[in-house]
Amino acid sequence: MLIINKELCIGCGICADQCPFAAIEIQNGVAVVGEACTLCGSCVESCEVGALSMEVAEKTVKADLAAWSGVWVFCEYRLGELAPVSLELLGAGRRLADLRGVTLGAVLFGHDTGDTAKKLIAHGADRIYRIDHEQLAAYAEDTYATLLTALINEYRPEIVLAGATAIGRSFIPGVATSVNAGLTADCTSLDIRDEDGALMQTRPAFGGNIMATIVCPSSRPQMATVRPKVMRALEYDGSRSGEIIDVAPTPSQLQSRVRVLESVVAPGAKVNIQEADILISGGRGLDNPKGFELLQQLADALGAKVSASRAAVDAGWIPYPHQVGQTGKTVAPKLYIACGISGAVQHVAGMQSSETIVAINRDAHASIFDVADFGIVGDLYEIVPKLIKRIEEYRRA
Ligand SMILES: Cc1cc2nc3c(=O)[nH]c(=O)nc-3n(C[C@H](O)[C@H](O)[C@H](O)COP(=O)(O)OP(=O)(O)OC[C@H]3O[C@@H](n4cnc5c(N)ncnc54)[C@H](O)[C@@H]3O)c2cc1C
Repeated sequence: MLIINKELCIGCGICADQCPFAAIEIQNGVAVVGEACTLCGSCVESCEVGALSMEVAEKTVKADLAAWSGVWVFCEYRLGELAPVSLELLGAGRRLADLRGVTLGAVLFGHDTGDTAKKLIAHGADRIYRIDHEQLAAYAEDTYATLLTALINEYRPEIVLAGATAIGRSFIPGVATSVNAGLTADCTSLDIRDEDGALMQTRPAFGGNIMATIVCPSSRPQMATVRPKVMRALEYDGSRSGEIIDVAPTPSQLQSRVRVLESVVAPGAKVNIQEADILISGGRGLDNPKGFELLQQLADALGAKVSASRAAVDAGWIPYPHQVGQTGKTVAPKLYIACGISGAVQHVAGMQSSETIVAINRDAHASIFDVADFGIVGDLYEIVPKLIKRIEEYRRA
């Protein structure tokens, strides 16, 4: 609660001007706070006479933090397959749980999930909260949200992580709202703050120009989503042991307003550039869609897949599932060859974790060379055919 000391307040209005939510008014020479107040605290800092404070509210909220413990990862299972991001998040979650000295929980919803729970334990989880039910065979946003909300309210984990996949993006925000938590989407790194054990959630902001670290010091749970291929999974360790808790949902929890009539695989949906070990990526420097035929030849020679910058996708030269970057996919292949790509921050945000980056660009000052391990300055239409020839010669030798 925001406290206004009427004795000290001089009605100057600075706090009202500073308030980003227009929650303060000056009435009869004194500041009055309205319902729009979010307790952001900017008015407290702005008050020159020290008439505003939030001390009491902080104590009340903090007293409750101890009731929340453990790190959870929502593990996505669909059509008989576990999404790879689930294992990546378990790798990140394991580290966070160890830093906090708490257990790592994995939440698994689906039908006929078989040995998946054991696999999650082998990849770092201590405890699995499993709901295996025929009504969970098809994904339904409202059912998933109801079930995860109920689990969070019952077991009270301090941290909940999920993949920033189509499923994660669709139902995790609703869960965050139901449990009164904030949600930091698309985090690129997660850590624990030494002084109070809060989760530090780092993500690109302002079009990728700055990295913002977001902390929720006085509320629980702390919720974040992470894109695929940003974190690293732990190696499978079959000797690990853990507990599997089978949760029985109530009939009302399984009720859904969604009825799945048919599942249709979208064209291009099978293109998964995130799983490729080698990517040959093309940008506006290709100058026309035929350039991708040349890149496909290089990809064939190397056993690679073809990806692209947004400029190439926007030009209609290649479909969106191939796009790398902030509004495309995050990739981390062993080898990424960027052909005719300038290296804009929004592109680099999606490929900078690649193990080895090779850039081909005719502009020696292109920013892509700042992140490249090997740079080739020149015309890609001269260099790529030479590369293909050399690779084929090497293969034949
Ligand atoms: C909110 C937002 C989100 C975005 N999300 C993404 C995203 O997800 N992914 C993404 O890629 N971009 C994204 N962008 C766009 C991004 O800012 C750039 O505009 C885009 O990445 C540029 O693509 P490009 O490098 O292919 O083209 P350009 O910047 O035009 O670069 C083309 C390069 O090709 C070189 N070149 C030209 N001809 C040749 C040749 N014959 N041989 C060799 N080199 C040659 C040029 O020197 C130049 O460096 C986003 C932008 C915004 C504002």
